[in-house]
Amino acid sequence: MARSQGFTLSLVIPAYNEAENIPLLLGRLAEGMASFDDVEIVVVDDGSSDDTRDALRRSLNAHPELRFVSLSRNFGHQIALRAGMEQTTGDCVICMDADLQHPPELIGDMVRQWQAGADIVNCIREDQKSLSLFKRLTSRWFYKLLSSISGLQLMPGSSDFRLLDRNVVDILNRLPEADLFYRGIIPTLGFRVVAIDYQPGARIHGKSKYTLRKMTKLALNGVVSTSVRPLRLATYFAFLTALASAAFLAHVLYVYFVSRTGVPGWASTLGVTLIIGTMQLLVLGMIGEYLGQVLKETRHRPPYYIAETGGAPPRTGAQGDR
Ligand code: UDP
Ligand code: MG
Repeated sequence: MARSQGFTLSLVIPAYNEAENIPLLLGRLAEGMASFDDVEIVVVDDGSSDDTRDALRRSLNAHPELRFVSLSRNFGHQIALRAGMEQTTGDCVICMDADLQHPPELIGDMVRQWQAGADIVNCIREDQKSLSLFKRLTSRWFYKLLSSISGLQLMPGSSDFRLLDRNVVDILNRLPEADLFYRGIIPTLGFRVVAIDYQPGARIHGKSKYTLRKMTKLALNGVVSTSVRPLRLATYFAFLTALASAAFLAHVLYVYFVSRTGVPGWASTLGVTLIIGTMQLLVLGMIGEYLGQVLKETRHRPPYYIAETGGAPPRTGAQGDR
């Protein structure tokens, strides 16, 4: 693959109500992209209600490398990313925000890492004063929680500012599931991964489009789409309850048979409650386990991803041919 020269670089930029940022962004990108032979910029207008779409239309003449897609309504950042990635043709694809918080100066470094062999270049945000305390705290908690629930190593400061090799983009575009959480899925793919630190800039115009509601939705989606561990909680609770119930039941039996101090009916009521409670949790856990399996299967994620093939093509009738 032509990673040294003659490659096409694609940029994917989701934009939701970013009309004021569009001309600035395209200007900054034009400066930064001068050193690349072939660049395409795909801006996804995620159902904006301001004049983002007009701003994009107006920019088309001055920026022949620009293409934009306007979604029919606001679908959210992750889906906008997917819509954008599906439009790209480049050998490597960089996803970044429209508000210039992701410095375009980093693009050169990212491409160099890709040329040196990296398939995924993640830009990790350094905890920065330019971000609000609220954003810093929620972001840190989010990654801690998600890492501990899902068992994935998610770096605090992860964002959707990253470069992906064409092969990885094709794999992501082929994933059939509708609710994607790229930060959770990409670490499960494998491939050669490199991280670069960066200092986020301040948002140039407008407010953050990630409202608390959108962040909560992203967090919940992130947990559910990366892990079935929460479903297993019922099973763990069942074990804990079983232990506690056994101990308590021993006490109830002791009171009933040996010390004979209990109120009539107390032992049987407690005994039945403990046994049934434990059994219910166990059954819930079992249902959770099967539900988890069903969930995994319905996503139709491929069981493996191929990084490279070499040599003669597979003979007809080989498994891979089907
Ligand atoms: N965005 C989007 N759809 C949404 C919300 C946000 O396309 O529903 C875009 C937004 O225009 C920006 C990027 O996603 O380019 C990141 O959003 P934002 O900068 O508001 O988030 P923050 O930087 O505050 O986390
Ligand atoms: Mg931002």
